[in-house]
Amino acid sequence: MMASCTRETLVIIGSGPAAWTAAIYGARANLNPFVLEGEPLGIMLPGGQLMTTTDVENYPGFPEGVTGPELMEKMKAQAVRFGTRVLSENVASVDFGVHPFVLRPNYSAEIEALAVIVATGANAQWMGVPNEERLAQTGGGVSACAVCDGALPFYRNKVVAVVGGGDTAMEESLYLTKFAGEVVIIHRREQFRASKVMADRVLGHPRIRVLWNKRVVEVLGYHEITGVRLEDAVTGERSDLELGGLFVAIGHRPNTAFLTGQLELTPSGYVRARSWRTATSVDGVFAAGDVMDDYFRQAITAAGTGCMAALEAERWLAHRGLGESPLLETADAREPGPAGTAG
Ligand code: NAP
Repeated sequence: MMASCTRETLVIIGSGPAAWTAAIYGARANLNPFVLEGEPLGIMLPGGQLMTTTDVENYPGFPEGVTGPELMEKMKAQAVRFGTRVLSENVASVDFGVHPFVLRPNYSAEIEALAVIVATGANAQWMGVPNEERLAQTGGGVSACAVCDGALPFYRNKVVAVVGGGDTAMEESLYLTKFAGEVVIIHRREQFRASKVMADRVLGHPRIRVLWNKRVVEVLGYHEITGVRLEDAVTGERSDLELGGLFVAIGHRPNTAFLTGQLELTPSGYVRARSWRTATSVDGVFAAGDVMDDYFRQAITAAGTGCMAALEAERWLAHRGLGESPLLETADAREPGPAGTAG
């Protein structure tokens, strides 16, 4: 028997700060949002990158800090309180070439949507070596975000390492010099990929040391990191380096595989949105959070763009007679022109 399809006004795909903020605003604007929050897959949980973050100390409103999972639970609860409905499934594919848009969850029947907000986030890349992700999840001194975690007392005055040779690794290393005793950059080649100005700043810094041609083959430590095992990329020789923290800065991958051919993406795979707007290349589809932001990547900026996406979706729907926008002049909601400047 064919499962029947449901028609929704606003569907939000994702479950991080961008998605829940969009849901809170959408629900309060009477758009009755439906959230596809994703499903547990291996060690990945719905809730995005904050589900693997221990202490969040830079989200405003929590002077004592808050754990990543607790922050996500609170945001979800706030969205549900205003009537948001949630399905714990991934989206297998979408058809944005028709309107209403069609979304195909992994198991449930197709969903039609008048407007969609894509907020599926991005994942930090890991090296894939023993103990790395386990210690990242348990707050054992491995992190993929120095700006998020570097100021925690755990890392203060310790020798910490940053893996990578791109601009992120340079930026994170310079940031960490504010707190750490020494910063060691571990790079697998003998040349940085980073821009010259960033690389020069790093190379001239008295508290940053670079280990060239070294690969991390194992993170050492059971409850907390004690160091890393390195392999020389040229000689193959192995050595151990004692550390009090490790920041992996080898890039991010946006979760956009299911959007291929449906939305315009940047060369690195992020959804291309218009500068200071969340409209995408498809009229009526909006994007928020790390899936369209390879620059700020913070919980607070993701939440901010989630709010923007919901307001834009509300105006867009109202402009077409599909919803009400008591707040705003709906003339603002006309097609934004070509998507263009993000990424
Ligand atoms: P990226 O430029 O892709 O650099 C990733 C680095 O990680 C490379 O040095 C790469 O080594 C290394 N790497 C990749 N996989 C690895 C592995 N498995 N093991 C060890 N090392 C590995 O990524 P990003 O630094 O995150 O930058 C992403 C984009 O954002 C770039 O366009 C960057 O310019 C931009 N960005 C700009 C700023 C700024 O302007 N302030 C700040 C941050 C980022 P190889 O070099 O050997 O490939």
